[in-house]
Amino acid sequence: KNKKLIAGNWKMNGLQASLKEIELIAAKVGHYADKGTFLICPPATLLPGAKALAGDDLNIGAQDCHSEKNGAYTGDISAEMIAEIGGSFVIVGHSERREGHHESNEAVKAKAEAALGQGLKPIVCCGETLQQREKGEAIGFVTQQIADSTPDSLSKDGEIAIAYEPIWAIGTGKTASVDDVAEMHVALRKTLVDKYGERGNTVEILYGGSVKPENANALLHTQDVDGALVGGASLKADSFLGIVAAL
Ligand code: 13P
Repeated sequence: KNKKLIAGNWKMNGLQASLKEIELIAAKVGHYADKGTFLICPPATLLPGAKALAGDDLNIGAQDCHSEKNGAYTGDISAEMIAEIGGSFVIVGHSERREGHHESNEAVKAKAEAALGQGLKPIVCCGETLQQREKGEAIGFVTQQIADSTPDSLSKDGEIAIAYEPIWAIGTGKTASVDDVAEMHVALRKTLVDKYGERGNTVEILYGGSVKPENANALLHTQDVDGALVGGASLKADSFLGIVAAL
């Protein structure tokens, strides 16, 4: 793909004062518009404020959505609510939700389908534990996770993205080796093409897990890596833009 997707996941970080980082990011990413698509997913409380500052060059998205359109689901937000404030993406199935909120592949798939129903682009996450990697089960586990967590069909090219985030690399400063990333991304590409045919080639496969300005260049230029899903380093404009500059 000629454009990479650089996405920031703020997780449960950011108060109103943090919107200044969005403003700084929005002011700069336009310079890289020919090389990338840019996205920040702040917590739900900051979505309208972020959207108001994001301008045309920065996309705003949410970190999760419910699978139902609306109803008695205390604490959840719907895909329609995200779309209404001008959000265009939603992360689904992050490992922190799979672990902390017991989300199954089936539940993640329903969320991704709800997102598509509202015109949002879901970023479907996957990733293995350190124990699974050490046992040699990473590729089998992760490819099955993606096969089971993505929508049955896609109605247009690039309608979803996926993110490979090895759990042991999240927030730890450890990144997977470039060879391991390439091996996994090639396996995921095959899973997507098996499932969607040619259209599987249009799904961006992001890498996530301790991405920072110092390692972004190597990771972003690895085989079948179509972008990055950035946690900690997306919280400050300087470090997020440092990753963008590696494109
Ligand atoms: P870190 O970049 O903080 O390791 O987080 C990665 C992640 O989980 C993004 O969704």
